[in-house]
Amino acid sequence: MKVKQELEKLLGKEIAQSSNEEVYYALLNLTKQLADDRRMEETKKKIYYVSAEFLIGKLLSNNMINLGIYEDVKKVLAESGKTLAEIEEIEVEPSLGNGGLGRLAACFLDSIATLGLSGAGIGLNYHLGLFKQVFEDRMQKEQINPWIKDQSWLRKTDVTYPVTFGKCTVQSRLYEIDVTGYNNRTNKLCLFDVETVDESIVDANHQFDKTDIEKNLTLFLYPDDSDEDGRKLRIYQQYFMVSNAARLIIDECKAKGSKLYDLFDYAVIQINDTHPTMIIPELIRLLVAEGMNMDAAIYVVSKTCAYTNHTILAEALEKWPRHYLAEVVPQLVPIIEILDDKVRRRFSDESVAIIDRNDLVHMAHIDIHYGFSVNGVAYLHTEILKNSELNNFYKIYPEKFNNKTNGITFRRWLLYCNELLSDTITEWIGDGYKKDAMELEKLLAFVDDDDKLEKLLEIKHQNKLRAKEYFKETQGIELNENSIFDIQVKRLHEYKRQQLNVLYVIHKYLEIKAGKLPTTPVTVIFGAKAAPAYTIAKDIIHLILCLQELINNDPEVSPYLNVVMVENYNVTLAEKLIPACDISEQISLASKEASGTGNMKFMLNGAVTLGTEDGANVEIHQLVGDDNIYIFGESSDSVIEHYAKADYVSRTYYENNPVLKEAVDFIISDAVIALGNAEMLHRLYNELLNKDWFMTFIDFDSYVDAKERAYKEYEDRKAWAQKMMVNIAKAGFFSSDRTIAEYNNDIWKIIK
Ligand SMILES: *Cc1c(COP(=O)(O)O)cnc(C)c1O
Repeated sequence: MKVKQELEKLLGKEIAQSSNEEVYYALLNLTKQLADDRRMEETKKKIYYVSAEFLIGKLLSNNMINLGIYEDVKKVLAESGKTLAEIEEIEVEPSLGNGGLGRLAACFLDSIATLGLSGAGIGLNYHLGLFKQVFEDRMQKEQINPWIKDQSWLRKTDVTYPVTFGKCTVQSRLYEIDVTGYNNRTNKLCLFDVETVDESIVDANHQFDKTDIEKNLTLFLYPDDSDEDGRKLRIYQQYFMVSNAARLIIDECKAKGSKLYDLFDYAVIQINDTHPTMIIPELIRLLVAEGMNMDAAIYVVSKTCAYTNHTILAEALEKWPRHYLAEVVPQLVPIIEILDDKVRRRFSDESVAIIDRNDLVHMAHIDIHYGFSVNGVAYLHTEILKNSELNNFYKIYPEKFNNKTNGITFRRWLLYCNELLSDTITEWIGDGYKKDAMELEKLLAFVDDDDKLEKLLEIKHQNKLRAKEYFKETQGIELNENSIFDIQVKRLHEYKRQQLNVLYVIHKYLEIKAGKLPTTPVTVIFGAKAAPAYTIAKDIIHLILCLQELINNDPEVSPYLNVVMVENYNVTLAEKLIPACDISEQISLASKEASGTGNMKFMLNGAVTLGTEDGANVEIHQLVGDDNIYIFGESSDSVIEHYAKADYVSRTYYENNPVLKEAVDFIISDAVIALGNAEMLHRLYNELLNKDWFMTFIDFDSYVDAKERAYKEYEDRKAWAQKMMVNIAKAGFFSSDRTIAEYNNDIWKIIK
């Protein structure tokens, strides 16, 4: 294809004479046409991945890479005096996800299409999505985040369904986004919207009438659930998502010849966490409405649905009061009661019931009893599900439980975000690794090759410079490219323990003030959004921003230590930060991070992990060996035991450890209070001292030791480059192509 001619045909003029915006829209349309040419016939069986989130990131470059025109476009733009980077700035990142769970769904869609499998994602088209984070007075403020423009990746379809709730009926509309496989087929991400949605009901303070379902249904991802109307709105959204999904699936299967008794031969539905759980009773309801008897409908649906568990945090396992469901979706309640009744007839164990004594409906329990597969997302996580969290279910259904260690798409997280590295790897080992990621192991042959090690360090430096320029331009942040980039970017949550990293920063600051200077300067970089109603998480952000101010403006300290919190961490920023990273902070309390996928992105880009033996860190550790990772902290077994015995007392650690005490006390020192909000800082201090539910203090000493060791070993540049090489070489296992091949072999069984 002649890219230049095609583009200029769409533009109606020369590229050089066109604005960046015009060029962007021409590329958008060209890409859509090419994606369309790669539609393929659906196979008999199809995978439907149903998820409340799809954190897809910007799509232009990703699609151009997958369609094979990326290099040509870059060249053509350069000839006309433009860069792809400036064209990409026009695209707004879709705001359809929150964190790892949504990003996983996006990586999976990429790999499903890349493996040539017939599949679709199904979710909601949130107009304002997740909030945009800004910092004001060193605190997080939330702004609305409109992202849908007149022209976008969304394609409006003719598909619409009436969706009936207890109090009203709304009309849905299906929009689609192309999902391009790498040199392979184009699938679809199906996003349902409501025709009557109205962004103008949101006032200047971001408040809106939570009961006005016709207008608010698809405005926000995870609307505030601190009151009853907010919680009900989440149920409205979930039912709207799954009712549309169920009807779309039934219609597509019928069109392919299904008689519905054989639905499982035509469709497999992967339920991503518990948000789409109501698809089980909804499908049963629809099949019964089609004339099937109740038992047959339950049988068919149970053979069609599979469930992925993403967390063992009790507060994240959804339980809805029965009376909420009776109000919002009264048609499902009799079905859920039948499902509960059948469980109670078979098992006397109250803990596996669907509706508990307090009339709460346990969504995960529906999935486990009435799905055919239950999977965890990393080895350790699945073991914990089987042996403790879901042990009562495992004893009943051992055959349903299986592990699928998460993965990431290497197209976005290497080929696109780190072209310098991927081009160099191609030079060294050929480009077979682009389709078979395990070929990266060929890099192991170079662990003693001085020139190649030198080259890895040079690439890292270039990526630091690129990040420096980007953050200077977009956020006015100064990064020192000659410092160690020590990065923790992920949602803000106490279990992920940004507060542990913060305590280290304080400790380091105090050491420097006392005259103990690091050899190489360090920049500790944070990026994280806190849920708007999560008070302590916002207090932690406040503390980081106060420390940033204090430390970066202290001429005694800032030459050696800098703290930076980037604003509005999202996929676009991740793509800039990860290739520039030296040390990847994966410091969750062992047993609490189901998998993590950030850890995999960092490893692939030549960062060395500093982490606990948690989630997929366990598998990273196994792959790279003790010498190429920094592991610290309590084991998950020991943590689980502390919870069981309720014997962790944070104050004891504080009182017995003067170094820790000094760091904790500094949170409420005059120096910090002068910059911040005393109430917030005291609240955080008290939380750590009196509760510390995620055991920050227990790991403080071993964290400081591990981090000091990492900083010291960074000094030996060759030894460090060897660690980088091993990490990159061993990252192949974490390709989502491998994960999806496993889902298909063990759960979906779609034959091409
Ligand atoms: C990968 C990714 C995540 C998940 O990070 P974890 O460290 O696994 O929690 C969250 N947000 C964005 C933008 C990501 O790209």
